[in-house]
Amino acid sequence: MANSSIAAVSFKVVLLGKGCVGKTSLVLRYVEDKFNGKHITTIQASFLNKKINIDGQRLTLAIWDTAGQEKFHALGPIYYRSANGAVLVYDITDVDSFQKVKTWVKELRKMLGRDMCLAIVGNKMDLEEERQVPVEEAEEYASKVGATHWFTSAKLNQGVEEMFVGLARDMLAKN
Ligand code: GDP
Ligand code: MG
Repeated sequence: MANSSIAAVSFKVVLLGKGCVGKTSLVLRYVEDKFNGKHITTIQASFLNKKINIDGQRLTLAIWDTAGQEKFHALGPIYYRSANGAVLVYDITDVDSFQKVKTWVKELRKMLGRDMCLAIVGNKMDLEEERQVPVEEAEEYASKVGATHWFTSAKLNQGVEEMFVGLARDMLAKN
């Protein structure tokens, strides 16, 4: 029981973004190190737990993925209200998905103020030659709204762990 005095730290993280940008793929890559070339329509649970250790601090990330409700614009505050962090995902080849991230940022800031840590993620960086969202525009936008910005490929496993760990560090610093 040597560690019983150390409080367990648990953070809720929600994934948000347009359908098909790769939200479920990022979660499955990070938590289970899997990738599936198909759109994943069924999820086993509403969230997956990932235990990590940051500079000796043990913490659990409860990572919430959607069941596709974003397609019907049916994700309400109940989904994100108690979250410590949000991962706002766009697809670098889809300009509309970046606009959707901006809509989410506005809603989250309006509902929750500055309490929530935000990570904006340009996924599918393996499709660089089809890029439609300029790097500078995305990075400038993120810094303007007080979010971090990351590039990932769930497919090639690039930047995924760095992004989740970076968000975990931000949440630790804030809580
Ligand atoms: P969600 O609707 O946002 O949860 O998106 P999914 O995770 O279901 O992924 C949608 C599609 O994008 C699937 O065909 C995935 O295989 C594909 N996908 C996800 N991440 C990547 C990536 O990093 N690179 C590429 N090329 N495809 C990806
Ligand atoms: Mg999904």
